[in-house]
Amino acid sequence: MYSMKNWSGYLKWTPSDVYLPNTENEIQEVVLKALNAKKKVRIIGSGHSFTPLSLTDDFLVSLDNYQGIIDVDKEKLTATVKAGTKLHLLNDLLFEHGLAMPNMGDINQQSIAGAISTGTHGTGTAFGNISTQISKIKFVNGKGEIVSCSETDKPELFKAAQVSLGTLGIITEITLKCVPTYKLELIIDKERLDTVLENYQELNKRYRNFEFYWFPNTPYVMLKLVNLTNDEPDKSSFSSYVQEMVLENYTFKIACEVSKVFPSLTRKISGIAADTIGKHRKVNHSHKVFITPRLVRFNEMEYNIPVEAYREVKKDIVNWINKHNRTVLFPLENRFVQGDDIYLSPAYQRDSAYIAAHVYNKKEPTKYFRALEEIFLAYNGRPHWGKMNTLTYDLAQKKYPMFDAFTKLRAEQDPDQIFLSDYLKTLFIGY
Ligand SMILES: Cc1cc2nc3c(=O)[nH]c(=O)nc-3n(C[C@H](O)[C@H](O)[C@H](O)COP(=O)(O)OP(=O)(O)OC[C@H]3O[C@@H](n4cnc5c(N)ncnc54)[C@H](O)[C@@H]3O)c2cc1C
Repeated sequence: MYSMKNWSGYLKWTPSDVYLPNTENEIQEVVLKALNAKKKVRIIGSGHSFTPLSLTDDFLVSLDNYQGIIDVDKEKLTATVKAGTKLHLLNDLLFEHGLAMPNMGDINQQSIAGAISTGTHGTGTAFGNISTQISKIKFVNGKGEIVSCSETDKPELFKAAQVSLGTLGIITEITLKCVPTYKLELIIDKERLDTVLENYQELNKRYRNFEFYWFPNTPYVMLKLVNLTNDEPDKSSFSSYVQEMVLENYTFKIACEVSKVFPSLTRKISGIAADTIGKHRKVNHSHKVFITPRLVRFNEMEYNIPVEAYREVKKDIVNWINKHNRTVLFPLENRFVQGDDIYLSPAYQRDSAYIAAHVYNKKEPTKYFRALEEIFLAYNGRPHWGKMNTLTYDLAQKKYPMFDAFTKLRAEQDPDQIFLSDYLKTLFIGY
């Protein structure tokens, strides 16, 4: 028995066996062993999901020993990598080859397979989620076979595999569509929420990557405005360090602890946090600009909504917080993503906005998340697969036009359902 927990500590489980294969053959052997022993198999990347995707009493497979670049094609700007490669290592290795990912989310601790499997995304209306940045996937399916698919080879299976929650098999290799290395300028600034809601389309046009954090109970947001630059990376990263580590992490940690003990101070603390937003500029190579260290542990819910509904959803959230006189400490994160054609991508066939809510991990998140979820669902919201939500089969089937195509392909790849845990059965089978 092994004791496992996810990043936030909310999920705890005890698989009977944990496997750390070093080769594709060893990965195949685990699947064959599970088939023989009639055991379930779940896969874990870095355990950064908030949903019970990796929970199992049986076999848990981690590809932490299966990391690195297999091949780089400098002409085609592609890199084939081992699926367990963590994004921080991946980006350092790509950089050595003069390559970079076109876009990233706001941390680099995930494995590449884990990131694509839940549709992990960054921000920027010219960019889809990270799963759109890949052209080929290799995996060991539920029969123990090695299967390849790509944009041109078995394209339907590929569209299913691009976001599959680890239910088609164990991904072993991923081919990434890269770009030459580039530098970014990040501007952090303070603005009023109503001004941003008026101008968010314009800001999305003006900046390569635009996002903002709204501090509930205040009229203010922190803008993050990112564009390409030819400027040299900042020589001294001290001010960035102070902003990111001290303000965004340590000060916030203290704020969380104080508000836990004295909930009545939460509103005041939120105001003070909004007051600390100052204008700030940072220039660096792309993979160093996208990333913000996250030292305060939280639980998170994030929904994708059609971008056309964005303003209405925001208004409903503000009204709900005001009506219920609700005090909220963590800022709500707002990002924008291009639509795609991946079967289970929350951005399937729609340009999207993502709104994320966070709750300190020592506080109960369910009531607040449920209230926001009702608002998101009223506007045809689709949850981030890795973040807390209450989606089950019936609703998932309604929300995803290609849901049945996905489950059919899934069943073909995994006829004995070895990759379906109880939780995943509630999503893909309905009982
Ligand atoms: C602090 C923090 C910041 C975050 N920031 C963002 C963000 O900016 N944008 C965003 O969209 N999300 C974000 N997330 C969510 C996170 O990116 C996703 O939950 C992601 O899936 C986690 O990757 P992981 O490697 O930890 O995978 P895990 O959480 O361990 O697993 C995720 C899924 O991938 C599957 N999986 C893992 N490896 C394989 C494999 N080899 N083959 C098949 N399936 C596999 C698992 O079975 C599971 O279904 C954040 C999470 C945290 C905790």
